[in-house]
Amino acid sequence: MLAYTYIGRGDFRLQEKPLPQLQDARDAIVRMTLGSICTSDLHIKHGSVPRAVPGITVGHEMVGVVESVGSGVTNVQHGDRVVVNVETFCGECFFCRHGFVNNCTDSHGGWALGCRIDGGQAEYVRVPYADCGLTRIPDNVSDEQALFVGDILATGYWAARISEITCDDTLLIIGAGPTGVCALLCAMLHAPRRIIVCEKSPERMRFVREYYPEVLVTTPDECIDFVHAHSEHGGADVVMDVAGADDTFRLAWQCARPNAIVTIVALYDKPQCLPLPDMYGKNLTFKTGGVDGCDCEAILRLIAEGKIDTTPLITHRFPLSRIDEAYSIFENRLDGVIKIAITND
Ligand SMILES: [Zn+2]
Ligand SMILES: [Zn+2]
Repeated sequence: MLAYTYIGRGDFRLQEKPLPQLQDARDAIVRMTLGSICTSDLHIKHGSVPRAVPGITVGHEMVGVVESVGSGVTNVQHGDRVVVNVETFCGECFFCRHGFVNNCTDSHGGWALGCRIDGGQAEYVRVPYADCGLTRIPDNVSDEQALFVGDILATGYWAARISEITCDDTLLIIGAGPTGVCALLCAMLHAPRRIIVCEKSPERMRFVREYYPEVLVTTPDECIDFVHAHSEHGGADVVMDVAGADDTFRLAWQCARPNAIVTIVALYDKPQCLPLPDMYGKNLTFKTGGVDGCDCEAILRLIAEGKIDTTPLITHRFPLSRIDEAYSIFENRLDGVIKIAITND
């Protein structure tokens, strides 16, 4: 089968590989029907994910059809359409039982697919702990509607959940990339009084204005003044930093009102400064929330009910055989790209 493979720094190649086989009673083999390219794939390509194993198939955002399951798998069976969770988790350890699947202590736990073991930019993928890592897609939800459930949409959902958003709140979301938009869609479910999105790319600002006209849009330069002018208590009640740029952490806490919640979704390239003397008395609560894909079933239900729709994010479609072109567009942000769906030829 064809598999997009991490050869070494800066080098991904489409290669012929043997079909994956069941290795454990709790494994499943999934035939990929749709995948996507994530910024984390680029981090591997650029050598900034040291634990990524050369030779592995990349890709961790995907949906498919269950081909076969091990004897210990009970939740899914041959023929089921499923979302694959970016995270591998055992479902049994302390953290899994408390819903913190991101912190699973199993030796295979965490971001394994497309990083430490073969992922989904291929025709087939082996999914360990399939009862945890696969979620059945409701019949009225298409592959494209379900594509981001296991990764960036799970991230947005988790971020909105831990941010304690109420209907009186002014929410500031910094960053309107794919994950920022997912966080926005999930925040909307909590119906805050107003949402302000801060974004520097004119293209992405246009995207937010076009699809979510009720959302206020500002730029990093104008953000502090804009938030002050559009909030009742000297700043946003809740702030999410989904951008992770050099100045966005500072911007996040500066735009927050006293006693606000500041949720960090972004993965920063560098350590950030927490200048406690400058914020003394502001009494902020900081939360950090990278992906915690424990709510895939709930998210799929919301999609089925028409309450979340991430399909506008899919701006391009390419078959697996042309994935090099897709990467070039995604990596260089050409042609207004937001997300690319990779189909199986
Ligand atoms: Zn990802
Ligand atoms: Zn676990």
